[in-house]
Amino acid sequence: MADASLNPYLRAQQSFKEAVEVLGVEMAVYDLLKQPLRFFEVAVPVVRDDGSLAVFRGYRSQHNDALGPTKGGLRFHPDVDADEVKALSMWMTVKCALLNLPYGGGKGGVACDVDVLSDRELERLSREYIRAISLVIGPDKDIPAPDVSTNSQIMAWMVDEYSRIRGENTFGLITGKPLIIGGSAGRVKATGRGLVFATRQLAHALGIEFAGSRVAVQGFGNVGSVAAEICFQLGARVVAVSDKDGGLYAEEGIDVQKLLAFKREHLSLKGYPEAEFITNQQLLELPVDILFPAALENQITADNAHRIQARIVGEGANGPTTPEADGILFDKGVMVVPDVLGNAGGVTVSYFEWVQNQTRTYWSEDEVNQRLETYMAKAMIAMHEMHERFGVTLRKAAYLVAVARITEAMRVRGWLT
Ligand code: NAD
Repeated sequence: MADASLNPYLRAQQSFKEAVEVLGVEMAVYDLLKQPLRFFEVAVPVVRDDGSLAVFRGYRSQHNDALGPTKGGLRFHPDVDADEVKALSMWMTVKCALLNLPYGGGKGGVACDVDVLSDRELERLSREYIRAISLVIGPDKDIPAPDVSTNSQIMAWMVDEYSRIRGENTFGLITGKPLIIGGSAGRVKATGRGLVFATRQLAHALGIEFAGSRVAVQGFGNVGSVAAEICFQLGARVVAVSDKDGGLYAEEGIDVQKLLAFKREHLSLKGYPEAEFITNQQLLELPVDILFPAALENQITADNAHRIQARIVGEGANGPTTPEADGILFDKGVMVVPDVLGNAGGVTVSYFEWVQNQTRTYWSEDEVNQRLETYMAKAMIAMHEMHERFGVTLRKAAYLVAVARITEAMRVRGWLT
């Protein structure tokens, strides 16, 4: 039998099954959730700059649309395959339902290596992929967004291609667009900001004062640097940060604005004079109130989970805690804000982008941030309630909230007998 812990699709199925059992709803719910409602596999022919033809494999999975159109990113990566795309669409269903967004989960991608494509080839690939799936996507059907190795420029080409096919500007097709063609203020920093909002809400529920709390952040990229910056702005003491070259530690707290300026100038954290060097391993095990793993998967494992001293782990990265480590942390009383909530700020502001496109009304960054805080806090409260009611980890509680909401939608829509 296949090892469910290795295949992300089998793992996602397992999580849905557990939620259905804990909630005590009928197995038909699991039968509907264990696979995407629709899955498309397409050929993506691209004329190379030398005139030859390369044909790539593209995918789009629409897992469940009981709550609304499906929504989820597009990745361009050599490892993209059917099972990965299906699993990621299932996680998007959970994220969207947990955040109470009127969406189901979707995901897509093309198996390709962007590093060997010229800009023109990348543009042709983006346009051809959208052409290939144009019949099954749309602002009221399925709304893509950027993911691994795709960005706002690629979203711009894609929305342009779709608009040409439709013969009308259709900015609500896709999110993560450049601001000038309907992108949202606050989108770039949304994931890191949302992570801090969710974690601060949990700290509040646990009676931990966020201002003045000791924080360590692993990873200083899009998610980690923003999380560190927002923590600093909210008065937390950011005692350690790190990137792939190692970490920095300062007992009195790091001035994150100064560090961001240093990194802009030196393109690295290395050599920052107002902190001492530590390893990434040391960072994870520091005596802090809150630890944000915001770099890579599998950072907190059965090997080091016993030594984690943080009271809260706020997952910014996808899958930074292994399932065995999750159990160890739960037994130690360490609360983990799971990735499905921790990094859901991006899809939440994507939803705001779509609302702004559909209503042709645009919001200020402050307005976006305030709404983001409300959505993150409400999701955390719902998840925490499930955690207390069923005595399960917050990660399992996230699935309970999501599956309960989707079940209710499927029931009133008449999908269940
Ligand atoms: P990024 O490439 O901008 O930054 C990654 C950071 O991690 C860099 O600072 C890098 O130096 C650091 N890093 C790499 N290896 C490391 C190591 N061994 N130890 C410590 N640090 C290391 O990526 P990102 O967009 O910030 O994404 C980080 C994580 O968050 C990924 O797991 C990603 O899938 C997830 N995520 C990101 C978003 C988003 O909106 N950017 C949304 C959802 C999930």
